[in-house]
Amino acid sequence: MSIKKVTVYAASSQALDADYIEAAADLGTVLGRAGLSVVYGGGGSGLMGAMADAALAAGAEVHGIIPEFLTRVESPHAGLTSLEVVDDMRTRKARMLEGSDAVIALPGGCGTFEELFEAMTLKRLGQFFGPIILVNTQAYYDKLVAFLRHSVDQRFMNRTHLQMWTVIDNPAELMDAIARAEGSRKHSWQSEAVVRPR
Ligand code: AMP
Repeated sequence: MSIKKVTVYAASSQALDADYIEAAADLGTVLGRAGLSVVYGGGGSGLMGAMADAALAAGAEVHGIIPEFLTRVESPHAGLTSLEVVDDMRTRKARMLEGSDAVIALPGGCGTFEELFEAMTLKRLGQFFGPIILVNTQAYYDKLVAFLRHSVDQRFMNRTHLQMWTVIDNPAELMDAIARAEGSRKHSWQSEAVVRPR
């Protein structure tokens, strides 16, 4: 299957080091150059805004999905291909993943974690099949990945679940990572969702 539409999760924080902003913009450029269409949270600032600006500049269609209350807290991105205003965070999260071929998480806070973990959970249960890519700028996700390994070591997840996501150091590695991860699309995750006694 060829990847056409990707979902990007990313920080809303406006207080981040330049390295993070640069990586977010690099990701947008890579996505635009690859001719992919992008769905994200619709924010105009933080890593979300940097990614969206660069993706648009590189020719991508960028679709934002934002809950109505957030439009009163912060400005959504003003130049998107489309902006969908939904009722609540849950609807947004569901809409962001609908019809998506792959999920990419830039560094972020609890909002990004929640979105990322939902994608992982759905993949484990055979409800989402696309690649899940973590962009590990500044080794930001090292501790999260270590904790997921701990979860496997303690038998909360199966060892095969470690194959559900791919960690890349920078966005230049994205398209190769997606191509490699595509192999796991056919994996029968659902049959391995449950951790059974040894
Ligand atoms: P966080 O990583 O905690 O900043 O959360 C960012 C993620 O959660 C994004 O992918 C958004 O979908 C959503 N989100 C959380 N807070 C905001 C916000 N203030 N503005 C836009 N999206 C947000």
